[in-house]
Amino acid sequence: GEESFKSALERELKEAGIYDEVKIIETGCFGTCDLGPVMAIYPEGTFYIRLKPQDAKDIVHEHLLKGRVVERLLVKEPELKKTIPTINELPFFKNQVRIALRNVGFIDPLNIEEYIARDGYSALAKVLTEMKPEEVIEEVKKSGLRGRGGAGFPTGLKWELGRKAKGEEKYIVCNADEGDPGAFMDRSIMEGDPHSVIEGMLIGGYAIGAKKGFVYIRAEYPLAIKRLTVALEQARNYGILGENILGTDFSFDIEIRIGAGAFVCGEETALIASIEGKRGMPRPRPPFPVNSGLWGKPTVINNVETWANIPPIILNGAEWFSSFGTEKSKGTKVFALAGKINMTGLIEVPMGITLREVVYDIGGGIPGGKKFKAVQIGGPAGGCIPAEYLDTPIDYESITALGAIMGSGGLIVMDEDNCMVDVAKFFLSFTQDESCGKCVPCRVGTKRMLDILDKITKGEGTEEDLVELEELAYTVRNTSLCGLGKGAPNPVLTTLKYFRDEYLAHIRDKK
Ligand code: SF4
Repeated sequence: GEESFKSALERELKEAGIYDEVKIIETGCFGTCDLGPVMAIYPEGTFYIRLKPQDAKDIVHEHLLKGRVVERLLVKEPELKKTIPTINELPFFKNQVRIALRNVGFIDPLNIEEYIARDGYSALAKVLTEMKPEEVIEEVKKSGLRGRGGAGFPTGLKWELGRKAKGEEKYIVCNADEGDPGAFMDRSIMEGDPHSVIEGMLIGGYAIGAKKGFVYIRAEYPLAIKRLTVALEQARNYGILGENILGTDFSFDIEIRIGAGAFVCGEETALIASIEGKRGMPRPRPPFPVNSGLWGKPTVINNVETWANIPPIILNGAEWFSSFGTEKSKGTKVFALAGKINMTGLIEVPMGITLREVVYDIGGGIPGGKKFKAVQIGGPAGGCIPAEYLDTPIDYESITALGAIMGSGGLIVMDEDNCMVDVAKFFLSFTQDESCGKCVPCRVGTKRMLDILDKITKGEGTEEDLVELEELAYTVRNTSLCGLGKGAPNPVLTTLKYFRDEYLAHIRDKK
């Protein structure tokens, strides 16, 4: 609805004769999916929600001409017994720390000057003029940043391995193949702040000694592709990409490669094969991409969120970044809130925040006053965490200890009405469908697991089926070739662990 509201607003501004006095900036997503379309009016920061074309008249005549807030378009907080006039007062924003999302929703992503005005490309200038590549790597290592794509490998260490890897030609890759159901973190960063990704990649290229980068992005993200394409062109025009960047002897350029949407292409060796023009299938590691990646050359792959974190780390220092988070999980993490939660949307929170704070303080709790049952964290390879662990801090170690994974940041909330066996079946059918078929445990094992789940949810399962399901799950997890197969059983294993009674209810009640 944003386009039709914008047209109505432009029309009203023209009719009121103030069109030239107001600048309308189309931004990326604020993260408040549930409230959209939204608009902020600056300098006061008034935040209007769920806008319709007919609201444009009141905004122009009441707010802009008479200085009176249009109450009915504000966020209402029944618990606080008031309306919330500005973004910063909104509980959804107040409890966030936005580093990767620092500009998303605040700048025009199609205008490089808005990025530059908010310190954009200052970190690049700093590394090119003041820092040796080794010093850049040291700073990233000290920050404690870990890969935000899911595995959590230390970013600085990966860069160091990339720098030390033998080879004249090296590559940087941005993994933008986000494909988890319910996840849209990377998409929003690329749509809302594409230059932050470009700047991060440039700094990475300088650090490891690469001249070329690729962004591998799925075709289902046309707006992100469009905005990234414009941003790359603008960066070239400003001398930020290409030969002799900012007048130095550092040269680097970035190409976009569009993926056809296979989930497995998010796995780095499959992604590499796909960029090379081959069928996107994983291969055994080692060799790791950092030694033998694109066309056999050393390749450093990080995901969108990781790259977007780099410029602020360089500008503000490793100490600043590591002041957020926990001992082993530093900084912040972007999550996509979906499912049975009042405020679906995109948030960035410091590591170590509890699930309860995310679900209730930021997400506004469960709709209709229903009871929270579980949260699926980490996408289809993640796991279901039940209510008794709501006070678990969100960091790599604590989440793994519960049988889930941090993953890329999908967070799907379930309430008392959800059947956890159905939830496990949904995620397994997704991974089964996306299995590339290269190795037997994943190709055959997930299919067999799905057959058993099908039987159980039809009321035809037995307790022996449950034993077989669990055995198969461990076999698939332990023997599959890549992360897709290794993670596929997690939703089944965690629901078996925390919600076994629901499986047994299907079996005993025959329904
Ligand atoms: Fe393909 Fe699955 Fe094997 Fe990965 S685990 S290589 S997706 S069959």
